Amino acid sequence: MNQPIIIAIDGYSSCGKSTVAKALAKRLNYVFVDTGAMYRAVSLYILRNKIDWQNSSEKEIEKVLDDITITFEFNPDSEQSDTYLNGENVEEEIRGKAVSEVVSEISQIKSIRKRMVSLQQKAGAKKGLVMDGRDIGTQVFPNAELKIFMTADPKIRAQRRFNELKIKGKQLTIEEVEENLSTRDYNDTHRKENPLIKAPDAIELDNTYLNEEEQLNWVLKVLQEKTS
Ligand code: C5P
Repeated sequence: MNQPIIIAIDGYSSCGKSTVAKALAKRLNYVFVDTGAMYRAVSLYILRNKIDWQNSSEKEIEKVLDDITITFEFNPDSEQSDTYLNGENVEEEIRGKAVSEVVSEISQIKSIRKRMVSLQQKAGAKKGLVMDGRDIGTQVFPNAELKIFMTADPKIRAQRRFNELKIKGKQLTIEEVEENLSTRDYNDTHRKENPLIKAPDAIELDNTYLNEEEQLNWVLKVLQEKTS
């Protein structure tokens, strides 16, 4: 594959989108952008600064956004990119309970979506990019050359997320994880601005019974078929 392309991966919470996207980016030597981390970093800033986002105007939120810089830096220990909020590594904190509980509400705010989409489009200007999120194939890159829509059984998703959090020492019950995923899925699919929907030209990947290697091979095969 000579010409770099854009690969958009959308889907429900904890479907393993980032895992597939990272592996794919590594294999293709592409840039990977986790857009969920961007909404999480904005949410963390709002929480930390006690911004009354539920009663703020779009203009006020825009001003808040002017004070936020989000960057990604490669961490050689984890061999993954860490998220930085105004120069501080917040990778761990943005995955915690406090942020997870509000992120799908905060990400409904129009001015936040507008700003994030614009930053994401800039990141993909040169192509050669794998981006995962909820509205990548529909709003951010509607002309992406390859669009994948990921799903998996909700029980399996919750179990995977629970195992991940347990390894990181986070104290959450499986019921709390299930509740958080179903609330976020509901908010993400029912919001007015850029809801999570499958783009008509997206190819669905149900990974309920697939391991990471099988998923990567599946995407590589689809890519091969698309580009040959
Ligand atoms: O991908 P992740 O689960 O980390 O995303 C956290 C939240 O950010 C999602 O539940 C969703 O509300 C929001 N999000 C979004 N649009 C994206 C990516 C994430 O609204 N493109």
